[in-house]
Amino acid sequence: MMDKSAIDKKKLLNGHILDGKVLRDLGVQRLKLAFSKFVGKPTLAVIQVGDLAESSAYIEQKRKFAEKIGAGFIHEKFSADVSEEDLSSAINRLNSNSKINGIIVQLPIPVALNKRKIIDTILPKKDVDGLTTTNKKLFETENSSAIVPATARGVLSLLEGYGIDVNKKKVTVVGRSELVGGPIATLFAHKGSLVTVCHRGTPDMTTKCRNADILIVATGVPRLVDRNYVTENQVVVDVGISSVLGDKLEEEIPRKVLVGDVDFNDVKDIVSAISPVPGGVGPMTVLSLFENLFDASKNVI
Ligand code: NAD
Repeated sequence: MMDKSAIDKKKLLNGHILDGKVLRDLGVQRLKLAFSKFVGKPTLAVIQVGDLAESSAYIEQKRKFAEKIGAGFIHEKFSADVSEEDLSSAINRLNSNSKINGIIVQLPIPVALNKRKIIDTILPKKDVDGLTTTNKKLFETENSSAIVPATARGVLSLLEGYGIDVNKKKVTVVGRSELVGGPIATLFAHKGSLVTVCHRGTPDMTTKCRNADILIVATGVPRLVDRNYVTENQVVVDVGISSVLGDKLEEEIPRKVLVGDVDFNDVKDIVSAISPVPGGVGPMTVLSLFENLFDASKNVI
């Protein structure tokens, strides 16, 4: 359960909403100052394969963030039928460019490409998404030089930002993907949380969710978690982002809206704190990516 100081800090910031935008904006100020102290300009390179509108939107978000904090930003775009060889040589060029401090491949990439092989081409010290095999091993073994995958770092920073201590707390993570749920579970275990992981086949998931002090949901299933999964005094972090058609009753012509994996309106008056979608984990993930870029640049520039 949350300690008293956490509750005070939470109230101070924004009722019982874990607002990622507020913390992101504070982080922008912090990073702007930190980046201004570098002699060179820490630079992130983003590789995009194909033309997915969602990927383009995420990349644009990163470009704007880089601009705000004074980081360099390079966007290299390839057609969906690019060969693995051409992609690897582009990554190798960025690996050997001393002006580039971080490299990410915007996922997903076309299935015809060997994702693992492409990601592992990135030099581990420039792997600011923390997805190379080398980095994953360092992360899993709690090596201090590991880069923490951005979403996991973002979830932890969101809770810490509101003074919520995760040590010795019962944390249930719903979703165990390689990119999101898995790293979140690993990070919280490293921080001393008592972690339970649920996935598609987990029996009696409602009980496992209700037993948690902190419930973190990362499934991609819109509004999966309703009032049956939560209890009072619980902190709920919603990582999911899905685009669904809005409610016809609210709008004459329903349009697409972003929703999380938690039915926010159904649970918000029960739990003690909850992150919204959009505006919760999303902004913290972008912030964390650039914190990783900062960490990767520290020893170089
Ligand atoms: P994924 O499809 O790779 O993995 C989903 C996981 O959820 C799997 O482990 C699966 O077993 C589990 N799952 C699916 N349905 C379930 C159910 N009914 N009950 C229990 N478990 C279930 O997805 P992902 O890449 O891990 O992404 C998850 C969500 O997080 C997506 O909505 C994605 O858009 C979002 N996301 C958000 C951020 C952010 O910054 N907020 C960053 C990355 C991903």
